[in-house]
Amino acid sequence: MERGKFFQSNHRTRIYLDAIAEVIGHHGLLALLRLADLTYWIDHPPPYDEVWGVDFADFSQLNATLEMMYGPRGQRALTMRAGRASFDEAIEQLGPKVGLAGATFQALPVPLRIKALLEALARGMEQHGHTAVTVRKEGAQFIYSVHTCSMCWGQHDVEHPVCHGTVGFLLQALTWAEVGDDFQVEESRCSATQAAGDGRCEFTVSAIA
Ligand SMILES: [Zn+2]
Repeated sequence: MERGKFFQSNHRTRIYLDAIAEVIGHHGLLALLRLADLTYWIDHPPPYDEVWGVDFADFSQLNATLEMMYGPRGQRALTMRAGRASFDEAIEQLGPKVGLAGATFQALPVPLRIKALLEALARGMEQHGHTAVTVRKEGAQFIYSVHTCSMCWGQHDVEHPVCHGTVGFLLQALTWAEVGDDFQVEESRCSATQAAGDGRCEFTVSAIA
């Protein structure tokens, strides 16, 4: 995996790691970090600060190692949970700043509310690392397009999409916006499934039929 190119905040990474550790326990975490070649984090986990100190390659390795240890289903459950926790943490900081907390936002018609939410999340991501995100509408669907995905950075030839952390992050956002029962999120394009991953992953937000 290409190292030293893109980084994300310590804080984001730590919240994600904490959510996983809550489930797999101390021994599980030790095994995970050893297997992922991240033993430095055993005594020095990323601190709760906003420094962009975590290499995308390390974060991606963490996610890939979860699949080695727990299988695709286990990895999916753990990283979705971590993604949901990441949103809960992000909205605390992000909500007031980007106008998501007020009555005006809650009064918007649902499609506009989702669009505003996704665009705010995209801007928020860009404050916490080299993750560039754009949002577009295709018919009734919204595409949340991550141009440099840290979840699967450097992975390739994987048989299935792996960035469930972002799926969980977006699902929690929809729940927060009170449309969680009506919309679904699918990773419709994952860079990790390509022969030569270009780092771009796309997530489709659509109404549940
Ligand atoms: Zn992906």
